[in-house]
Amino acid sequence: MLLILCPYCQSRRAELEFRNVGAAHISRPSDPQTTTDAQWGEFLYQRDNPKGRIAERWLHIHGCGRYFNAIRDTISDVFVTTYKSGEPPPAMPSEAKP
Ligand SMILES: [Zn+2]
Repeated sequence: MLLILCPYCQSRRAELEFRNVGAAHISRPSDPQTTTDAQWGEFLYQRDNPKGRIAERWLHIHGCGRYFNAIRDTISDVFVTTYKSGEPPPAMPSEAKP
């Protein structure tokens, strides 16, 4: 079972209590009225899909109900760290070479 550490509850809980709500650190255009269709489309739909570590936004839907961010490795599905919304992503040590 995958356990996720909620940075607000400070406890590791089963993945079933959480919902992935997409990429983290995506900024909404400051003035949507002046945004072109292409810029708006990019904001809505264009996301990086890297192999390796990625910043994601999660919701502790069956717990405290708060949003937080997580760094997850897409290869191993390991949560490297979690942190509160509004905090910058933590500096990541370089990944170990095999
Ligand atoms: Zn929580």
